[in-house]
Amino acid sequence: MKRRLFLGAGTAVLANLPMCSPAQTPDPTPPAAFAPPRPLAPLRASADRIMDLNVCLRPFRAQGPRIESEQRYGKHIVHHYGHGGSGWSLSWGSAKLALPLIRAGGHQQIAVIGCGAIGLTTARVAQMNGLKVRIYCKERPPEVASSKATGMWSPDSRICSSEHATPAWTRAWEAMARSSFKTYQSLLGLAEQPVEWRDGYLLSDIPFDQPLPASAHGGDDEPDYPNLIGELDDIRPKSVLLRPGEHPFRVAHAKRFTQMSFNISSYQRLLMDDFLRAGGEIVHEVFEHPRQFGGLRERTIVNCTGYGARALLGDKSIIPVRGQTARLLPQIEVDYALIYRGHNLFMLPRRDGVLVQAQGEHDFGNEDTRIDRAQSVAAVERLAALFS
Ligand SMILES: Cc1cc2nc3c(=O)[nH]c(=O)nc-3n(C[C@H](O)[C@H](O)[C@H](O)COP(=O)(O)OP(=O)(O)OC[C@H]3O[C@@H](n4cnc5c(N)ncnc54)[C@H](O)[C@@H]3O)c2cc1C
Repeated sequence: MKRRLFLGAGTAVLANLPMCSPAQTPDPTPPAAFAPPRPLAPLRASADRIMDLNVCLRPFRAQGPRIESEQRYGKHIVHHYGHGGSGWSLSWGSAKLALPLIRAGGHQQIAVIGCGAIGLTTARVAQMNGLKVRIYCKERPPEVASSKATGMWSPDSRICSSEHATPAWTRAWEAMARSSFKTYQSLLGLAEQPVEWRDGYLLSDIPFDQPLPASAHGGDDEPDYPNLIGELDDIRPKSVLLRPGEHPFRVAHAKRFTQMSFNISSYQRLLMDDFLRAGGEIVHEVFEHPRQFGGLRERTIVNCTGYGARALLGDKSIIPVRGQTARLLPQIEVDYALIYRGHNLFMLPRRDGVLVQAQGEHDFGNEDTRIDRAQSVAAVERLAALFS
């Protein structure tokens, strides 16, 4: 069956959450000794509360991220890019996979090109393993594409196409995902809340076991995606099917899930601070051609240019997948995520605002980074209808 990710980052994870059967669903009436659950705070979903709109491109590669080395321009070059809709989620594990290739250069001082999710974590992993790192980049946070991501644990979101998900590839993906997950558990409970666990609600007009009508799917350009997330069942909290009256939303069907999320502003700041504190240096540099690598002081160079690698290396295997998000004014009391199945709608409450992601029908292969305000206003209005 064709499997799509039209709902956006996180949906692939959530659509396949292991679920308690209704028989296992906790009785809605709590024992007298416990306080009843706190009611959910309503979201103030209105277009006048949109304070920020962003578009960025997911660097998708059908064959998965490129993690390989070559000798060129007198340098040991390690390529590390193409993480689709999973860059934040897989970053630590992917960097650990790249580390032996970096070390094979045999140099204590290395250059990392790029200061997004992948460049920063690669730099940190190298530092933690005793290397000295200088980052060269065109943009640094908050200007990088990674700053515009949603911030959900979504390790299988547009990470490769089904035809490339061989058993060996799947094992490597699983290793990356588990290693990242483990690292993220060590970033919980910090003052600035870079990483948190959140409850969320998956909403649907039709029963969850019924497929969505064809009209609810994206364009025909998207490839088939492999069902990878089942490999991580043991580290995914089970979702719970809710009965009518057990949730406040104006939909016929709902499940509650629990998912890890990233407060990208504070998390990025933490990564930058840690990198600089460990002696890292950031240099502004724009590379028009990879032969410029030859002019760098360092002899090992890690290329973490994300979507930028398409132009820099002429690598057409990187396909842009457009994503637009709106940020509503922060509502600290809203502490749950929402996904409206079949409506291309995703809401994540972050400390720096309520992220509303709405995908268009033609995002795959679309490199148009112009903001379409009407698309986000329509998404916010669809959200509002869930509360009215
Ligand atoms: C809307 C949206 C939502 C997303 N949500 C999530 C999510 O919830 N969870 C998740 O895990 N992932 C998510 N992603 C995916 C994630 O954002 C990407 O996989 C990740 O940002 C890729 O990081 P990167 O470091 O490779 O690229 P980038 O962030 O683009 O960084 C590239 C770096 O290289 C530099 N660079 C590029 N070209 C050059 C050049 N020629 N010379 C010098 N420097 C250069 C740039 O300036 C930048 O510093 C989302 C993506 C989108 C679009």
